[in-house]
Amino acid sequence: MSMTFEHITLGQRVLFGSGEAAANLAAEVQRHAASRVMVIASAAKRELAERVCRDIEVALWFDDVVQHVPVECAEQARAAAAEHGIDLLVCVGGGSAIGLAKAVALTTGLPIVAVPTTYAGSEATNVWGMTENRTKTTGTDDRVLPGAVVYDATLTVSLPVALSVASGLNSVAHCVDALWAPKADPINQALALEGARTLAAALPRIAEAPEDLPAREQALCGCYLAAVAFASAGSALHHKICHLLGGTFALPHAETHAIVLPHVLALNAPAVPDLAARLACALGRPVEAGQDPADAAVAALDQLRTTLGAPTRLADYGLTESDIPEAVQRAVGAAPASNPVHVTPENMTALLTAALTGAEPAPAVLTAR
Ligand code: NAD
Repeated sequence: MSMTFEHITLGQRVLFGSGEAAANLAAEVQRHAASRVMVIASAAKRELAERVCRDIEVALWFDDVVQHVPVECAEQARAAAAEHGIDLLVCVGGGSAIGLAKAVALTTGLPIVAVPTTYAGSEATNVWGMTENRTKTTGTDDRVLPGAVVYDATLTVSLPVALSVASGLNSVAHCVDALWAPKADPINQALALEGARTLAAALPRIAEAPEDLPAREQALCGCYLAAVAFASAGSALHHKICHLLGGTFALPHAETHAIVLPHVLALNAPAVPDLAARLACALGRPVEAGQDPADAAVAALDQLRTTLGAPTRLADYGLTESDIPEAVQRAVGAAPASNPVHVTPENMTALLTAALTGAEPAPAVLTAR
């Protein structure tokens, strides 16, 4: 079969250097010739943001940062930007701070410089997300893609191990989901697999020694590869499920990704054995002689999650059995038609119930195929 695809590479400057965030940010502010900078950082991250912003003039600090970007927060931030004549948005923090900056950029066209402190990867995508009436809506728009990203691994050393693990697995999820996403192609698949390889090497070192700076640098690099792959390949089943769980049931983003991922992999891997084999290899457990590639990929992810002490039950984060029918209905409605396995109420009920209770990724689904 001939190879046919259209691939778009998003344009963005990446400045990577441990201990260099303040200097790199100042250079970016100068490059933008900005004089009215709005810094978006949660109150909890204010001290860290002040360190990063020590060499720039800040016209406005904005700290009303809430996960999944409630529309009201976006409107407040947009009004504040307009009132203060802002000409550049700087966001310092995780995906929530970056998401709020994107919501402002979406309607104002203001440029963004992102200084990420987690592995969520939002800084490398043109995807925005906002939540209203228990429904999270996402979309793509090049106006929300940060023009520059300032990566400084020293800013991530304070990320607690549990959050590093969950956020790191959120990043691994970008890699896995990109393999079969609607716009998957050989370029974004290569980025995804290298991202998975890099993250699988870095995350256990971070869990063991959170102050291991080279491991933190490696994780940030893997996080960027993963997010670029995700931005290019588009949102697939895993992301659709996690978005609905976050938007409708207010589940925390990173932990939800970490819990749901093995179940989506177990569902899809049998239908894409070549990709499963490449993923198993990237995660450090190549397929053994006679082994089913899907089993190898599932086992490789399971081993990584066990090493990291990853969270296992959505019930621990507030989902209940009575939420399952609505979640199933929303998941079936949101699933991309191109998912390798046909998505049905039955397989979504099995998947979400297993993720709720922490059951093994459904082998019944695997063998039933
Ligand atoms: P987050 O930004 O809410 O951060 C999680 C927690 O970590 C917060 O309490 C925060 O204060 C803390 N934290 C962040 N950096 C820290 C550090 N260095 N040290 C100590 N604590 C730190 O969570 P997240 O998982 O980074 O982002 C989730 C949000 O990002 C969700 O709303 C999600 O939808 C969005 N997101 C969007 C995209 C996209 O492409 N649009 C991609 C990924 C995530």
